[in-house]
Amino acid sequence: MNNTSRRDFIKIAASLTAGFGLANLPAEVMAALNKSGFDNAPVLLYLQAQSCSGCSISLLQSSNPSPHILITRYSKLAFHADLSAAAFSKAAEIIESYINGSAGDYILALEGSIPFNMPAACEINGKPISDLLLKASKTMKAAVAVGACATNGGVPGAEGNPTGAIPLLEFYKRNNVKPFLINIPGCPVHPDWVWQTVIHLVKAGAPELIDRDNEDNLINSPKMFFGKRLHENCPRYHDFQEKIFARKIGDEGCLFEVGCSGPITFSDCSTRWWNSGTTWCIDANAPCVGCASKKFAHYKSHSFYRITEKIKNERSNTKDN
Ligand code: SF4
Ligand code: SF4
Repeated sequence: MNNTSRRDFIKIAASLTAGFGLANLPAEVMAALNKSGFDNAPVLLYLQAQSCSGCSISLLQSSNPSPHILITRYSKLAFHADLSAAAFSKAAEIIESYINGSAGDYILALEGSIPFNMPAACEINGKPISDLLLKASKTMKAAVAVGACATNGGVPGAEGNPTGAIPLLEFYKRNNVKPFLINIPGCPVHPDWVWQTVIHLVKAGAPELIDRDNEDNLINSPKMFFGKRLHENCPRYHDFQEKIFARKIGDEGCLFEVGCSGPITFSDCSTRWWNSGTTWCIDANAPCVGCASKKFAHYKSHSFYRITEKIKNERSNTKDN
């Protein structure tokens, strides 16, 4: 194929797919979409705990379909702190009407972690979010934990944090509650991962979930997005196999030696890409920092940009000379 590199070809293919409005829909979601009617669009009650709102901003970057269609046709948004006109006591009234069961069926979406040791660190209208979440467990149809903070504690849950921040599944476990809960990691979350999960949930039931806890990927996350490591489908995988490694960020070649966590990260970023299929971390020459992985930002020792001993030695030798 004349002068087009494999990486360029994948980039063009990803853009074309997005351009045709298919947005990299997995077969499971296509099949779910083909089932008729959205008459029973689910009510989504979207709450934010200890979060930076980055996942909400990412969800609003969805382009196929647009956020407007997603929150009016594919779902009915009951409340979202950044989008709803209601605030203060009016917002609390709406939230509580769902949580106490009087407003009808709903799916709870939670962004952010829960301050288990310091409930007052996160309140809605003077009530700890932990109380609201416990009440919700009795009335919601399902829960979707959105993003790294809600699924593994994320940055607020890093080792040594004073609030004892934990993810939603762990919060329910500590309270002996077992709701139906889907984990969708990522910092931030990819809009397709959330919206396609909701579409699947409503039209075809729960997608197949990771059912076993293991070292690297998160239990209860949809296999269609988080079932495989992104490394094997990376456009630079050939470089990895040929041992053509970048020496610094910005170089051509596999980014493993300058800190890429692709080999231990379960997500489909390398085939889905971001921003409607126009780019993703590695295309932008930034190593994957494993934001969708189970241990993302957990430990003080977590280094976002780790370099190998080999590169450290090379750099110190250059300094010495
Ligand atoms: S280590 Fe990173 S840059 Fe290299 S092939 Fe794997 S995912 Fe791609
Ligand atoms: S490539 Fe890695 S760091 Fe980038 S969004 Fe995907 S999982 Fe997160």
